[in-house]
Amino acid sequence: MSNETIFTKIINKEIPADIVYEDDHALAFRDINPQAPFHVLIIPKQAIATINDINLENRELVGHLYYVAAQLAKEYQFAENGYRVVMNCNNDGGQTVFHIHLHMLAGKAMGWPPYTNTLKQQD
Ligand code: AMP
Repeated sequence: MSNETIFTKIINKEIPADIVYEDDHALAFRDINPQAPFHVLIIPKQAIATINDINLENRELVGHLYYVAAQLAKEYQFAENGYRVVMNCNNDGGQTVFHIHLHMLAGKAMGWPPYTNTLKQQD
């Protein structure tokens, strides 16, 4: 089964993206539907479908994604004021692209908690 997603096409430069960082292991590009003044996705070049697929072999790569976030925070001057880095997993987490990615959101104060309360009142 192929685990190629639209992000594989972005890595392979088959479709365009507004790339802000690239190295041998990771790529960061602006989200097409930004939820903050600065909203980039930081992805590994190796396709890992969800957080559930992180294992002993690829766990350092996930740490590298956070390293990239820290570099971008410094480069774009968000380190001091702060920012939000989040990775969604599967349906309840709100994941729509099954190639893990850190959302890095910055440029305004974030809210908490990050969900709409849709629970029904218990009788
Ligand atoms: P998630 O819902 O956590 O899986 O996040 C997927 C994100 O990918 C969403 O925020 C989308 O706006 C973003 N996205 C989908 N397609 C593209 C694309 N071609 N270029 C940039 N961002 C994209």
